[in-house]
Amino acid sequence: MESWNKARKVPEKTLLGPGPTPVDGRILRAMAEPTLGHLDRDFVAIMDETRDLLRMVFQTKNDLTVAMSGTGSAGMETACVNMIERGDKVIICSHGVFGTRMQDVAGRCGAEVVEVNAPMGRPVDPGDVRRAIAANPDAKLLGIVHAETSTGVLQPLDEIVSIVHGAGMFMVVDAVTSLGGMDVPVDRLGFDMVYSGSQKCLACPPGLAPVTVSPRAVEYIKNRKSKIQSWYLDLTMIMRYWGQERFYHHTAPVNMIYGLNEGLRMIAEEGLENRFVRHRRNAEALWAGLEALGLELLVEKAFRLPSLTSVKIPEGIDEAVVRGRLMDEYSIEIGSGLGDLKGKIIRIGLMGSGSNRKNIVLFLSALGRILSDQGFRTDLDTAQEAVHKVLARD
Ligand SMILES: *Cc1c(COP(=O)(O)O)cnc(C)c1O
Repeated sequence: MESWNKARKVPEKTLLGPGPTPVDGRILRAMAEPTLGHLDRDFVAIMDETRDLLRMVFQTKNDLTVAMSGTGSAGMETACVNMIERGDKVIICSHGVFGTRMQDVAGRCGAEVVEVNAPMGRPVDPGDVRRAIAANPDAKLLGIVHAETSTGVLQPLDEIVSIVHGAGMFMVVDAVTSLGGMDVPVDRLGFDMVYSGSQKCLACPPGLAPVTVSPRAVEYIKNRKSKIQSWYLDLTMIMRYWGQERFYHHTAPVNMIYGLNEGLRMIAEEGLENRFVRHRRNAEALWAGLEALGLELLVEKAFRLPSLTSVKIPEGIDEAVVRGRLMDEYSIEIGSGLGDLKGKIIRIGLMGSGSNRKNIVLFLSALGRILSDQGFRTDLDTAQEAVHKVLARD
């Protein structure tokens, strides 16, 4: 009770987990700007600019590009409730926890879900997608996770999208952990519905889910037979609020939009391509350092995500102790394994502002110290040398 009289001070920590990721002070200051009415002309101008900036990161001209009020999972629900009608057959791929979540959400929308699964740590095989479509020619859409945060696998999508479109189906992509950190070429590959979240590579606080929808999918949503089951996530109404009409739907989280706007401006300033290169290079430096410490990575290099790295826990090491000490002694947050990988891996996110040399060097030295205390022989100097070698390359 007494503490109610004092101002709260939240401690600073280094967020190197699967998200949220470190938020730059510029974004936090933007969020402290005066709250405006959600239909105020000055706010509406900020919304319009935010849409343009979202089109830049999604690399799209899609008219229907918005930030849904909710986290990444609200983006997933938005895709499912708008694209699925009760009784529809859909193919949903899973190579980890988030693909499995999409299968669950699609099922809750009344879809008959055909699953295409891959083992944890591997991407989905395009051959399996081809076979599933051949066996289910009446399937209407395929959903897949681009960057599977539970394992650290980057799913190649070029071949799968051409199979999906060849069958006349819609392609739904979860880009929660890829957007703003790696290439998500929405128009070039013709994805029909892509959603993301504000707190991963976009490096804003959690709370908004950017979504973009192709003109073909918009036509479908406008003409579907049944009413969209969710009032809150109904894109036919949301598009009237974000569009010229400014039809009142729900109160936009005004200050959150200021934050997203500022985060997207930072991406525009850096340049998308430069940002991809930075994420990739820092991830390679981290991988080199981890391997020099004697650790093994879960995912083979060809399918590794630049934004999230899964590391196998060596025999005899207690991963809960490792994570606990990183937090208690260094204020570093990392992620644990999910599902079948619980206790077997740790997950290190280098996303957005968090993807930098300082974090890699700090993390590796803290980890090396903790592992050697547990009897695992490591050579920190070699690890730091390996990091600097990667970062010195041009
Ligand atoms: C984090 C994440 C989500 C869920 O986002 P929330 O913001 O936690 O709701 C969905 N998909 C992927 C791939 C994610 O990494």
